[in-house]
Amino acid sequence: MPSYVDPEKCDGCKGGDKTACMYICPNDLMVLNVESMLAYNQEPDACWECYSCVKICPQDAVFVRGYDDFVPMGGQVHPMRSSDSIMWTVKFRNGNMKRFKFPIRTTAEGAANAYAGETGGNLDDECLLLEADLPTPN
Ligand code: SF4
Ligand code: SF4
Repeated sequence: MPSYVDPEKCDGCKGGDKTACMYICPNDLMVLNVESMLAYNQEPDACWECYSCVKICPQDAVFVRGYDDFVPMGGQVHPMRSSDSIMWTVKFRNGNMKRFKFPIRTTAEGAANAYAGETGGNLDDECLLLEADLPTPN
């Protein structure tokens, strides 16, 4: 089930060229209605519930309707991101609530380099990039 925006909370990222949810969606689903200054998911059927827009929204305005088998009707799972952790709030349909806090990666945005120290390998052999580093089986 797709993400949706709470119109009471969204401020259109205060009119920036590209809102935070537009920037982060890997499927380019989020768009801004410049008349109302409210973002919305333009193609809900294509949303894969990655929660990226939920986590990045500075107004905590985006929510995901979970599938029934994962989050039964009336329940909700919602993350709240801080600089070093994410607090997940799980609301059960009987009113119970649980919270879980997990640390997150603190590498500065854009600073991660998966290829650090790699020379590129031998482009003429059939090995993948890191395959040559694996020990040879006996
Ligand atoms: S990131 Fe949040 S506040 Fe910004 S436009 Fe999207 S839903 Fe609205
Ligand atoms: S949950 Fe993921 S795929 Fe769906 S709109 Fe948000 S960022 Fe895009």
